Amino acid sequence: MSRLAREQNAINLGQGFPDEDGPKEIREIAAQAIIDGPNQYAPAEGTPELREAVAADNKRFCGLDINPETEVQITSGATEALAAAFQGYLEPGDEVVLLAPFYECYAPQIEAAGGRVRFVDLIPPAWSLEAAALEAAITSKTKLIVINTPHNPLGKVMSRGELEIVAEAARRHDLIVVCDEVYEHLVFDGQPHIPLMCLPGMKERVIRIGSAGKTFSLTGFRIGYVTGPARLITGLMKAHQHLSYTSPGSLQKAVAAGLALGDDYYERFVADMQAKRDLLAAGLKEAGFDVLPCGGTYFLTVDIRSVGRDDDAAFCKEITENAKVAAVPISAFYHPQQKNSPRTYARFCFCKRPEILQEASARLARYFS
Ligand code: PMP
Repeated sequence: MSRLAREQNAINLGQGFPDEDGPKEIREIAAQAIIDGPNQYAPAEGTPELREAVAADNKRFCGLDINPETEVQITSGATEALAAAFQGYLEPGDEVVLLAPFYECYAPQIEAAGGRVRFVDLIPPAWSLEAAALEAAITSKTKLIVINTPHNPLGKVMSRGELEIVAEAARRHDLIVVCDEVYEHLVFDGQPHIPLMCLPGMKERVIRIGSAGKTFSLTGFRIGYVTGPARLITGLMKAHQHLSYTSPGSLQKAVAAGLALGDDYYERFVADMQAKRDLLAAGLKEAGFDVLPCGGTYFLTVDIRSVGRDDDAAFCKEITENAKVAAVPISAFYHPQQKNSPRTYARFCFCKRPEILQEASARLARYFS
């Protein structure tokens, strides 16, 4: 969709990256650190400074006591953290339960690690998780469950009740849960972000993955952080050593400073993004779309039946070529095996400047009128 958007000179609300870089002070520290060093291999587990900052961040935002020596691993973005987890934890034939739709790198990474994917369909429009559906997907071969809250592409924030369903299943079947929490600081409407790790008995079987790219709008930095019990961090670290080995010390230094930014940074960040959500949601409604609720992330989902369409891939191509606004079909977030996945939803990204969101909405309104 990004290539088509470029060819068509369309506004790209398909790919999810902010169009403004995050805090200048973080970028200045990174620039200075490239001049002054460190510029040689950083420790494979991450610099002590950044691991301590991640542990402090867990205490500050989640009340979690994390040992920076043994319970934190720094990675090259959340993408590498996920790959290292799957390579570290899975033996050929092990099964992994995914809640569908799901962020697109999970299934290929799991399959490349020799694992097999099984799916629990979240049912629109609420996309809620049912205990019986999760139970039905678990077999004697299941080793992991992957959850993602707030959720890409749905913008859904898992409720405490849904997290309890996952916790209960993980305890009962002795499973590891990989929690993709890259949008942990983008939960809207004053709601809390609840890490699964905070639920009783979960700390010993959960890893939670964060991303400086998302938290500081610096997606090109490629710095991710994983928190978990020592045995799971060790397993992940062994795969990480042979994947990317380490990440630039200069950028780790800058991200450590970022994690120490005051509450005002985090409050402004979420308030700005919420205002963008509201702006785009209003624009899309004005253009005739049925907009689904969005409790977090960068993403709004619409039901394309509201504008008389029923094929999401064709719809995204149509609006990119004709309205000059790109979106992404939600069917792309299902496994090719899932032949009956919904085909009537599309995702628009709102981490763009307000004037871009207004122009995109105006183009869609003109086209659909
Ligand atoms: N998980 C989710 C749910 C995401 O949306 C993304 C980025 N689009 C990632 C992981 C990857 O994050 P990173 O850029 O830190 O690799």
